[in-house]
Amino acid sequence: MTVHFPFQNSYSALPDSFFARVAPTPVAAPRLIKLNRPLAVQLGLDPDVLETPEGAEILAGKTVPAGADPIAMAYAGHQFGQFVPQLGDGRAVLLGEVIDKDSIRRDIQLKGSGPTPFSRRGDGRAALGPVLREYIVSEAMFALGIPTTRSLAAVVTGEHVIRETALPGAVLTRVASSHIRVGTFQFFAVRRDTDAIRRLADHVIARHYPELSGAERPYHALLSGVVARQADLVARWLLVGFIHGVMNTDNSSISGETIDYGPCAFMDAYNPSQVFSSIDEMGRYAYANQPRIALWNLTRLAECLLPLFSDDQEKAVAEAQDILGAFSDTFSNAYQAGLRKKVGLFTERDGDDALIQDLLDAMAKNQADFTLTFRKLGDAAGDPAADDARAQFMDPGAFDEWARRWHERTALEPQSAAERQAAMHAVNPMFIPRNHRVEAVIQAAVNNDDYTPFEELVKVLAMPFEDQPDYAAYADPPLPDQRVLQTFCGT
Ligand code: AMP
Ligand code: MG
Repeated sequence: MTVHFPFQNSYSALPDSFFARVAPTPVAAPRLIKLNRPLAVQLGLDPDVLETPEGAEILAGKTVPAGADPIAMAYAGHQFGQFVPQLGDGRAVLLGEVIDKDSIRRDIQLKGSGPTPFSRRGDGRAALGPVLREYIVSEAMFALGIPTTRSLAAVVTGEHVIRETALPGAVLTRVASSHIRVGTFQFFAVRRDTDAIRRLADHVIARHYPELSGAERPYHALLSGVVARQADLVARWLLVGFIHGVMNTDNSSISGETIDYGPCAFMDAYNPSQVFSSIDEMGRYAYANQPRIALWNLTRLAECLLPLFSDDQEKAVAEAQDILGAFSDTFSNAYQAGLRKKVGLFTERDGDDALIQDLLDAMAKNQADFTLTFRKLGDAAGDPAADDARAQFMDPGAFDEWARRWHERTALEPQSAAERQAAMHAVNPMFIPRNHRVEAVIQAAVNNDDYTPFEELVKVLAMPFEDQPDYAAYADPPLPDQRVLQTFCGT
C-alpha cells in the first residue's frame, strides 16, 4: 500500500519571493502517536494507510509523498508590538494542498519538521508538549464550532530537542484553510512590493472570499471581509473563555481561523484580565484585550492594502479607516448576541445588556467558574431548584439576587423551561480543555510515554456539549493545588 495524497497545489505556483523551497529534514525513528481518522477521511486520505510505518514516515517528514511541493512560507510580523520584517516558517513546511470532501482547499503542513531558510537561530523543531497542546486545543475548538486550524496527526521523532532540558521531539500535521497571515501581507509591504501584495490579495480573494471577486472594489471588500471574520472569531473566543496568548500579526489568519496555538489556555474562574502566557509580561494579550488587539492587527493589514486602494494616500487612509470602523459594531453584535444565547434569551429587550453585564461582574467578583456557571445556568432554566450555578459563587447570595431578575426576564418569553435548557446546553459547553488536564496529559506523555490520558481527553472534548456522565470529572475546575498559572511557548 502506498500513501496517496491528492495534492492540488496553488501557493507554490506563486512567485518565488513568496516562499523558500525546502524539504522536511528526516528524523531518526518516527512513531505515530495519534491520527485524526475522521479528518483524514474528510481530506480524501486513507486513514489505514496513514497508520502504516510508511504513513508515519510521511507525517514525520522522513519521506516526502508524491505530488508534494514542500515550501516554507515567507512572512513578517509584529511580535508584541515590535515589527520584525522577516519571520517566515522557521520550523514548518507546507507539503501541499488538497481539496476536501466539502470542496474546500486545505493546506497540509508539518510543524516541527526541521530548519528552513527562515529558522534564524532556531532548531526548526517542536517539543512533544506543545504539539500535544495544539492537537488537543485546536480539535476542542473545532468541536466547539469555532473556526480553527486542525490537527491531522502527531508523531514523535525519536530525537530530542533541547529547550531548558532535553525533551522528546514531535511533529504536528496541521490542516488549515490556508496559512496566510496578516504578516504575509506585511512581508511584501515593508519591501514596497505592490505587485506581490496584489498577487497575494487576488489569491486570498479567490481562495477565501470568492464571493468578493466580482466586487466593484475587491480590495476594499477584502479588508471588510477580514474585519468581519476576525470580529466574529474574537467574539467566539470570549464566549468560551479562550485566551490565544500570542496574538501577533504573524499569528493572525486572513481566513479568520484561530491559528498558532502556543501558550493558549481557557480560563477557569472568570477574570477579564486573565493572562496565562509566560512571555506576555505586560498583559497585552489578556482575555478582555483580545478584541482591541484584533483591531490593532487589522489596522496593520489595512496599512499593507493602502497602495491597492488609491494612489491618493489621504483618500486611501480615509477609506481604510471607514472599513476598520465597522469592527467595533460587528464584534459587539456578535458578542452580545452570543451572551444572550448563553443566558437563554430568545428575544432582545432593553436592559438585557445590563442584566448580562451584572452577571459577568458578579462572576468576576465571586471567582465563579466561567464554563460551569453558564452550563449550570442551563440546568437552573430547566429546574429552578437546580443550584449548581449558584454554587460557583463565593457568595451565593450574589447569584440569588441576579437569578431573581433573570427568572423575571425569561418569564416574558413563551418558550418552555425544557426548550430554554436545551438551547442553553447547545451553546454552553460542559467540557473545555482545562489547563490542568492538558498539563497532566503532557506530563504523562513526556515523562512516562503514556498516551492514555491524551486519548481520553481528546475523546471527551470531541463532544463538549454532551453531559458524558462517565467523564464528569473532566468538567471540574482545578483544585487549588492543580491550578496552572502559566503556559509556556515551548519554542
Ligand atoms: P511562533 O511563536 O511559533 O508563532 O513563531 C514565531 C516565529 O518564530 C515564526 O517565524 C516561527 O517559524 C519561528 N520559530 C519558532 N520556533 C522555532 C524553532 N524552534 N526553530 C525555528 N524557528 C522557530
Ligand atoms: Mg506563529
